Amino acid sequence: MQTQHHALAGSPLGTRREIVSFHYGPQDAGRKVYVQASLHADELPGMLVAHHLRQRLLALEAAGALRGEVVVVPVANPIGIGQTLLLANIGRFELGSGENFNRHYPALFDPVVPLIEGRLGDDAGANAQIVRAALRSLIQALPEDTELTSQRKTLLGLACDAEVVLDLHCDAESLLHLYTGTALWPQAEPLARLTGSRASLLAAESGDHPFDEACSQTWWLLEAHFRGRHPIPMGCLSVTLELRGEADVAHPMAAADADALIAFLTHRGIVDGPPPELPPLREPATPLDATDVLRAPVGGVVVYVRELGDAIRAGDVVFEVVEPISGAVHAVASRTDGLFFARESQRYARAGRALAKVAGAVAVRSGKLSSD
Ligand SMILES: [Zn+2]
Repeated sequence: MQTQHHALAGSPLGTRREIVSFHYGPQDAGRKVYVQASLHADELPGMLVAHHLRQRLLALEAAGALRGEVVVVPVANPIGIGQTLLLANIGRFELGSGENFNRHYPALFDPVVPLIEGRLGDDAGANAQIVRAALRSLIQALPEDTELTSQRKTLLGLACDAEVVLDLHCDAESLLHLYTGTALWPQAEPLARLTGSRASLLAAESGDHPFDEACSQTWWLLEAHFRGRHPIPMGCLSVTLELRGEADVAHPMAAADADALIAFLTHRGIVDGPPPELPPLREPATPLDATDVLRAPVGGVVVYVRELGDAIRAGDVVFEVVEPISGAVHAVASRTDGLFFARESQRYARAGRALAKVAGAVAVRSGKLSSD
Protein backbone atom coordinates (compact mmCIF):
# COMPACT_ATOMS: atom_id res chain seq x y z
CA MET A 1 0.00 0.00 0.00
CA GLN A 2 1.27 3.39 -0.94
CA THR A 3 -0.07 6.67 0.45
CA GLN A 4 -0.02 9.83 -1.65
CA HIS A 5 -0.68 13.38 -0.46
CA HIS A 6 -2.04 15.86 -3.01
CA ALA A 7 -1.86 19.43 -1.73
CA LEU A 8 -4.64 21.66 -3.03
CA ALA A 9 -3.68 24.96 -4.65
CA GLY A 10 -5.52 28.12 -3.71
CA SER A 11 -6.06 27.40 -0.01
CA PRO A 12 -6.64 30.43 2.21
CA LEU A 13 -3.57 32.18 3.59
CA GLY A 14 -1.98 30.26 6.41
CA THR A 15 -3.88 27.03 5.66
CA ARG A 16 -3.13 23.90 3.70
CA ARG A 17 -5.58 21.25 2.56
CA GLU A 18 -4.81 17.99 0.85
CA ILE A 19 -6.44 14.95 -0.68
CA VAL A 20 -4.97 11.68 0.55
CA SER A 21 -5.11 8.64 -1.73
CA PHE A 22 -4.29 5.04 -0.81
CA HIS A 23 -2.94 2.81 -3.58
CA TYR A 24 -3.16 -0.98 -3.36
CA GLY A 25 -1.84 -3.61 -5.75
CA PRO A 26 0.51 -3.36 -8.73
CA GLN A 27 0.66 0.04 -10.43
CA ASP A 28 2.24 -1.36 -13.60
CA ALA A 29 -0.37 -3.96 -14.54
CA GLY A 30 -2.28 -1.66 -16.90
CA ARG A 31 -5.47 -1.96 -14.87
CA LYS A 32 -6.81 0.52 -12.36
CA VAL A 33 -9.89 1.01 -10.19
CA TYR A 34 -10.72 4.24 -8.41
CA VAL A 35 -13.06 4.57 -5.41
CA GLN A 36 -13.82 7.86 -3.69
CA ALA A 37 -16.15 8.69 -0.82
CA SER A 38 -18.03 11.75 0.34
CA LEU A 39 -17.55 14.16 -2.56
CA HIS A 40 -20.58 15.73 -0.93
CA ALA A 41 -18.64 16.01 2.26
CA ASP A 42 -21.37 15.30 4.79
CA GLU A 43 -22.61 12.16 3.00
CA LEU A 44 -20.87 9.78 5.33
CA PRO A 45 -21.95 6.18 4.55
CA GLY A 46 -19.32 5.98 1.80
CA MET A 47 -16.60 7.16 4.13
CA LEU A 48 -17.32 4.21 6.42
CA VAL A 49 -17.50 1.81 3.47
CA ALA A 50 -14.07 3.07 2.36
CA HIS A 51 -12.77 2.36 5.86
CA HIS A 52 -13.92 -1.27 5.60
CA LEU A 53 -12.79 -1.55 1.98
CA ARG A 54 -9.25 -0.49 2.87
CA GLN A 55 -8.94 -3.30 5.42
CA ARG A 56 -9.99 -5.85 2.79
CA LEU A 57 -7.66 -4.41 0.16
CA LEU A 58 -4.72 -4.49 2.56
CA ALA A 59 -5.32 -8.19 3.23
CA LEU A 60 -5.80 -8.95 -0.48
CA GLU A 61 -2.60 -7.10 -1.35
CA ALA A 62 -0.68 -9.03 1.30
CA ALA A 63 -2.05 -12.26 -0.19
CA GLY A 64 -0.91 -11.19 -3.67
CA ALA A 65 -4.51 -11.30 -4.90
CA LEU A 66 -4.73 -7.90 -6.64
CA ARG A 67 -4.37 -7.94 -10.46
CA GLY A 68 -4.42 -4.16 -10.82
CA GLU A 69 -4.15 -0.95 -8.86
CA VAL A 70 -7.03 -0.01 -6.57
CA VAL A 71 -7.02 3.63 -5.45
CA VAL A 72 -9.17 4.68 -2.48
CA VAL A 73 -9.83 8.30 -1.51
CA PRO A 74 -11.90 8.13 1.68
CA VAL A 75 -12.26 11.91 2.06
CA ALA A 76 -12.82 13.31 -1.43
CA ASN A 77 -13.84 16.78 -0.28
CA PRO A 78 -11.55 18.32 2.35
CA ILE A 79 -12.96 21.77 1.51
CA GLY A 80 -16.53 20.71 2.28
CA ILE A 81 -15.70 18.77 5.40
CA GLY A 82 -14.29 21.99 6.83
CA GLN A 83 -17.44 24.03 6.21
CA THR A 84 -19.59 24.37 9.30
CA LEU A 85 -22.40 26.87 9.76
CA LEU A 86 -24.29 27.08 13.04
CA LEU A 87 -23.37 23.49 13.99
CA ALA A 88 -24.44 22.09 10.59
CA ASN A 89 -21.89 20.72 8.14
CA ILE A 90 -22.33 22.24 4.69
CA GLY A 91 -20.94 19.57 2.41
CA ARG A 92 -22.90 19.84 -0.83
CA PHE A 93 -22.10 23.37 -1.96
CA GLU A 94 -18.93 25.43 -1.61
CA LEU A 95 -19.85 28.35 0.59
CA GLY A 96 -17.67 30.82 -1.31
CA SER A 97 -19.04 30.20 -4.80
CA GLY A 98 -22.34 28.41 -4.14
CA GLU A 99 -21.25 25.69 -6.55
CA ASN A 100 -22.21 22.07 -6.02
CA PHE A 101 -19.06 20.05 -5.31
CA ASN A 102 -20.27 17.35 -7.72
CA ARG A 103 -20.94 19.54 -10.72
CA HIS A 104 -18.97 21.57 -13.29
CA TYR A 105 -16.26 19.04 -14.02
CA PRO A 106 -14.58 19.73 -17.37
CA ALA A 107 -15.86 18.14 -20.58
CA LEU A 108 -12.87 16.36 -22.10
CA PHE A 109 -14.17 15.07 -25.43
CA ASP A 110 -13.41 18.13 -27.57
CA PRO A 111 -9.85 18.63 -26.33
CA VAL A 112 -8.96 14.93 -26.38
CA VAL A 113 -9.88 14.31 -30.05
CA PRO A 114 -6.93 16.21 -31.58
CA LEU A 115 -4.54 14.49 -29.14
CA ILE A 116 -5.46 11.00 -30.37
CA GLU A 117 -6.46 11.60 -34.00
CA GLY A 118 -4.03 9.70 -36.25
CA ARG A 119 -2.71 7.55 -33.40
CA LEU A 120 -5.49 4.98 -33.11
CA GLY A 121 -5.53 1.53 -34.67
CA ASP A 122 -7.74 -1.57 -34.89
CA ASP A 123 -7.11 -2.85 -31.36
CA ALA A 124 -9.74 -1.55 -28.93
CA GLY A 125 -7.58 -2.28 -25.90
CA ALA A 126 -4.58 -0.45 -27.33
CA ASN A 127 -6.83 2.47 -28.32
CA ALA A 128 -8.12 2.64 -24.76
CA GLN A 129 -4.60 3.04 -23.41
CA ILE A 130 -3.92 5.84 -25.92
CA VAL A 131 -7.10 7.61 -24.77
CA ARG A 132 -6.14 7.19 -21.09
CA ALA A 133 -2.66 8.64 -21.66
CA ALA A 134 -4.19 11.62 -23.50
CA LEU A 135 -6.70 12.18 -20.67
CA ARG A 136 -3.87 12.16 -18.12
CA SER A 137 -1.92 14.81 -20.00
CA LEU A 138 -5.04 16.93 -20.57
CA ILE A 139 -5.95 16.95 -16.88
CA GLN A 140 -2.40 17.70 -15.82
CA ALA A 141 -2.62 20.86 -17.91
CA LEU A 142 -5.94 22.05 -16.44
CA PRO A 143 -5.78 25.34 -14.53
CA GLU A 144 -6.20 25.31 -10.75
CA ASP A 145 -6.80 28.92 -9.96
CA THR A 146 -9.05 28.27 -6.97
CA GLU A 147 -9.10 25.68 -4.22
CA LEU A 148 -12.30 24.25 -5.73
CA THR A 149 -10.87 23.86 -9.23
CA SER A 150 -7.74 22.36 -7.69
CA GLN A 151 -9.84 19.80 -5.84
CA ARG A 152 -11.75 18.91 -9.03
CA LYS A 153 -8.50 18.60 -10.99
CA THR A 154 -6.90 16.41 -8.33
CA LEU A 155 -9.85 13.99 -8.14
CA LEU A 156 -10.24 13.79 -11.90
CA GLY A 157 -6.49 13.26 -12.30
CA LEU A 158 -6.65 10.29 -9.94
CA ALA A 159 -9.70 8.78 -11.65
CA CYS A 160 -9.39 9.57 -15.36
CA ASP A 161 -7.38 6.51 -16.42
CA ALA A 162 -9.28 3.95 -14.32
CA GLU A 163 -11.45 1.25 -15.91
CA VAL A 164 -13.83 1.40 -12.93
CA VAL A 165 -14.72 4.59 -11.03
CA LEU A 166 -17.02 4.33 -8.02
CA ASP A 167 -18.18 7.62 -6.52
CA LEU A 168 -19.79 6.84 -3.15
CA HIS A 169 -22.62 9.20 -2.18
CA CYS A 170 -25.92 8.96 -0.31
CA ASP A 171 -29.31 10.65 -0.48
CA ALA A 172 -31.17 12.21 2.45
CA GLU A 173 -33.41 9.19 3.20
CA SER A 174 -33.26 6.51 0.57
CA LEU A 175 -32.88 2.96 -0.64
CA LEU A 176 -29.55 2.02 -2.19
CA HIS A 177 -29.52 3.16 -5.83
CA LEU A 178 -27.08 4.16 -8.52
CA TYR A 179 -26.59 6.52 -11.45
CA THR A 180 -24.54 5.62 -14.51
CA GLY A 181 -24.24 6.18 -18.25
CA THR A 182 -26.79 4.42 -20.45
CA ALA A 183 -23.99 2.84 -22.49
CA LEU A 184 -22.44 1.46 -19.32
CA TRP A 185 -25.40 -0.56 -18.09
CA PRO A 186 -24.12 -3.96 -19.31
CA GLN A 187 -20.99 -3.42 -17.18
CA ALA A 188 -22.86 -1.87 -14.26
CA GLU A 189 -25.54 -4.53 -13.97
CA PRO A 190 -23.39 -6.96 -11.92
CA LEU A 191 -22.62 -4.10 -9.51
CA ALA A 192 -26.34 -3.39 -9.16
CA ARG A 193 -26.95 -7.06 -8.40
CA LEU A 194 -24.13 -7.40 -5.89
CA THR A 195 -25.01 -4.22 -4.00
CA GLY A 196 -28.75 -4.95 -4.05
CA SER A 197 -29.45 -1.66 -5.84
CA ARG A 198 -33.16 -0.81 -5.84
CA ALA A 199 -32.99 1.72 -8.69
CA SER A 200 -30.44 1.99 -11.49
CA LEU A 201 -30.90 5.32 -13.23
CA LEU A 202 -29.40 5.76 -16.68
CA ALA A 203 -28.58 8.87 -18.69
CA ALA A 204 -26.14 9.93 -21.38
CA GLU A 205 -26.25 13.51 -20.09
CA SER A 206 -27.67 14.29 -16.66
CA GLY A 207 -26.72 17.98 -16.63
CA ASP A 208 -24.05 20.26 -15.16
CA HIS A 209 -21.23 17.71 -15.59
CA PRO A 210 -21.07 15.63 -12.42
CA PHE A 211 -17.89 13.74 -11.58
CA ASP A 212 -19.02 10.33 -12.83
CA GLU A 213 -19.94 11.67 -16.26
CA ALA A 214 -16.68 13.60 -16.53
CA CYS A 215 -14.92 10.24 -16.17
CA SER A 216 -17.08 8.23 -18.55
CA GLN A 217 -18.89 10.44 -21.05
CA THR A 218 -15.77 11.00 -23.17
CA TRP A 219 -15.74 7.30 -24.03
CA TRP A 220 -19.16 7.04 -25.65
CA LEU A 221 -18.62 10.33 -27.47
CA LEU A 222 -15.30 9.01 -28.79
CA GLU A 223 -16.90 5.71 -29.75
CA ALA A 224 -19.48 7.57 -31.86
CA HIS A 225 -16.86 9.93 -33.32
CA PHE A 226 -14.52 7.13 -34.47
CA ARG A 227 -17.21 4.54 -35.32
CA GLY A 228 -16.32 2.69 -38.53
CA ARG A 229 -12.71 3.85 -38.33
CA HIS A 230 -11.30 2.76 -34.96
CA PRO A 231 -12.92 0.68 -32.19
CA ILE A 232 -13.24 2.55 -28.88
CA PRO A 233 -14.46 0.51 -25.90
CA MET A 234 -16.51 1.86 -23.01
CA GLY A 235 -13.20 2.23 -21.21
CA CYS A 236 -14.46 3.67 -17.94
CA LEU A 237 -17.34 2.20 -15.97
CA SER A 238 -18.14 5.19 -13.82
CA VAL A 239 -20.96 4.90 -11.29
CA THR A 240 -22.40 7.19 -8.64
CA LEU A 241 -23.44 4.79 -5.91
CA GLU A 242 -25.99 6.20 -3.47
CA LEU A 243 -25.47 4.27 -0.23
CA ARG A 244 -28.97 4.81 1.18
CA GLY A 245 -29.68 7.79 3.48
CA GLU A 246 -27.36 10.14 5.32
CA ALA A 247 -28.08 8.49 8.68
CA ASP A 248 -27.41 4.97 7.38
CA VAL A 249 -23.96 4.80 8.92
CA ALA A 250 -23.43 1.46 10.65
CA HIS A 251 -20.66 -1.13 10.69
CA PRO A 252 -22.65 -4.19 9.55
CA MET A 253 -24.11 -2.31 6.58
CA ALA A 254 -20.78 -0.74 5.59
CA ALA A 255 -18.95 -4.06 5.94
CA ALA A 256 -21.53 -5.75 3.70
CA ASP A 257 -21.21 -2.95 1.14
CA ALA A 258 -17.41 -3.29 1.17
CA ASP A 259 -17.81 -7.04 0.64
CA ALA A 260 -20.10 -6.31 -2.33
CA LEU A 261 -17.50 -4.00 -3.88
CA ILE A 262 -14.78 -6.63 -3.45
CA ALA A 263 -17.10 -9.20 -5.04
CA PHE A 264 -17.60 -6.83 -7.97
CA LEU A 265 -13.83 -6.40 -8.37
CA THR A 266 -13.52 -10.20 -8.28
CA HIS A 267 -16.18 -10.40 -11.00
CA ARG A 268 -14.07 -7.93 -13.03
CA GLY A 269 -10.89 -9.98 -12.48
CA ILE A 270 -9.14 -7.22 -10.55
CA VAL A 271 -9.24 -9.40 -7.44
CA ASP A 272 -8.24 -13.05 -7.72
CA GLY A 273 -10.81 -15.63 -6.74
CA PRO A 274 -13.74 -17.67 -8.02
CA PRO A 275 -16.35 -15.52 -9.76
CA PRO A 276 -18.99 -14.47 -7.25
CA GLU A 277 -22.55 -15.67 -7.63
CA LEU A 278 -24.60 -12.75 -8.92
CA PRO A 279 -27.88 -12.30 -7.03
CA PRO A 280 -30.97 -11.45 -9.11
CA LEU A 281 -31.40 -7.83 -10.11
CA ARG A 282 -33.81 -6.23 -7.62
CA GLU A 283 -35.35 -3.77 -10.11
CA PRO A 284 -34.79 -3.22 -13.83
CA ALA A 285 -32.68 -0.23 -14.87
CA THR A 286 -34.71 2.82 -15.88
CA PRO A 287 -33.96 6.07 -17.70
CA LEU A 288 -33.16 8.96 -15.38
CA ASP A 289 -35.67 11.15 -17.21
CA ALA A 290 -38.36 8.68 -16.10
CA THR A 291 -37.70 9.43 -12.43
CA ASP A 292 -40.39 11.79 -11.21
CA VAL A 293 -39.15 14.44 -8.78
CA LEU A 294 -42.02 15.67 -6.62
CA ARG A 295 -41.81 19.22 -5.33
CA ALA A 296 -43.52 21.21 -2.58
CA PRO A 297 -46.19 23.43 -4.22
CA VAL A 298 -46.13 25.78 -1.20
CA GLY A 299 -44.08 26.17 1.94
CA GLY A 300 -45.19 24.14 4.92
CA VAL A 301 -44.90 21.00 6.99
CA VAL A 302 -44.11 17.89 4.95
CA VAL A 303 -45.98 14.73 5.85
CA TYR A 304 -45.10 11.61 3.89
CA VAL A 305 -48.05 9.31 3.43
CA ARG A 306 -46.08 6.61 1.61
CA GLU A 307 -42.92 4.82 2.66
CA LEU A 308 -39.66 4.24 0.81
CA GLY A 309 -39.89 0.99 -1.14
CA ASP A 310 -43.59 1.41 -1.87
CA ALA A 311 -44.75 0.68 -5.40
CA ILE A 312 -46.51 3.85 -6.51
CA ARG A 313 -49.15 4.26 -9.21
CA ALA A 314 -49.50 7.46 -11.22
CA GLY A 315 -51.91 9.69 -9.29
CA ASP A 316 -51.02 8.23 -5.88
CA VAL A 317 -50.38 10.87 -3.23
CA VAL A 318 -46.83 10.52 -1.88
CA PHE A 319 -46.80 13.42 0.58
CA GLU A 320 -48.83 16.35 1.81
CA VAL A 321 -47.66 19.87 2.56
CA VAL A 322 -49.64 21.35 5.43
CA GLU A 323 -50.00 25.13 5.77
CA PRO A 324 -50.73 25.45 9.48
CA ILE A 325 -51.95 29.05 9.33
CA SER A 326 -54.49 28.72 6.53
CA GLY A 327 -55.16 25.11 7.37
CA ALA A 328 -54.78 24.15 3.72
CA VAL A 329 -53.41 20.71 2.94
CA HIS A 330 -51.75 20.24 -0.43
CA ALA A 331 -51.54 16.65 -1.64
CA VAL A 332 -48.70 15.89 -4.06
CA ALA A 333 -49.06 12.90 -6.36
CA SER A 334 -46.63 10.99 -8.56
CA ARG A 335 -46.95 11.44 -12.30
CA THR A 336 -45.63 7.95 -12.93
CA ASP A 337 -45.91 4.34 -11.87
CA GLY A 338 -42.70 3.36 -10.13
CA LEU A 339 -40.71 2.77 -6.96
CA PHE A 340 -40.59 5.43 -4.23
CA PHE A 341 -36.85 5.28 -3.50
CA ALA A 342 -35.68 8.60 -2.01
CA ARG A 343 -36.98 11.54 -0.04
CA GLU A 344 -35.80 14.59 1.85
CA SER A 345 -35.15 14.30 5.56
CA GLN A 346 -36.26 17.79 6.59
CA ARG A 347 -39.96 18.07 7.35
CA TYR A 348 -40.29 21.77 6.63
CA ALA A 349 -40.10 22.73 2.96
CA ARG A 350 -40.03 25.99 1.09
CA ALA A 351 -42.16 26.25 -2.05
CA GLY A 352 -40.53 24.49 -4.98
CA ARG A 353 -38.25 22.22 -2.94
CA ALA A 354 -37.69 18.78 -4.46
CA LEU A 355 -38.85 16.29 -1.82
CA ALA A 356 -39.44 12.83 -3.24
CA LYS A 357 -38.25 10.65 -6.11
CA VAL A 358 -40.18 7.89 -7.84
CA ALA A 359 -38.31 5.75 -10.39
CA GLY A 360 -40.64 5.12 -13.30
CA ALA A 361 -40.04 3.62 -16.72
CA VAL A 362 -41.50 6.29 -19.04
CA ALA A 363 -39.99 9.77 -19.48
CA VAL A 364 -41.63 12.50 -17.41
CA ARG A 365 -38.80 15.05 -17.36
CA SER A 366 -36.42 16.72 -19.82
CA GLY A 367 -33.52 19.17 -19.68
CA LYS A 368 -31.28 19.13 -16.64
CA LEU A 369 -31.97 15.87 -14.82
CA SER A 370 -29.50 16.06 -11.95
CA SER A 371 -30.49 17.55 -8.59
CA ASP A 372 -29.37 21.03 -7.56
ZN1 LIG B 1 -24.00 13.30 -3.12
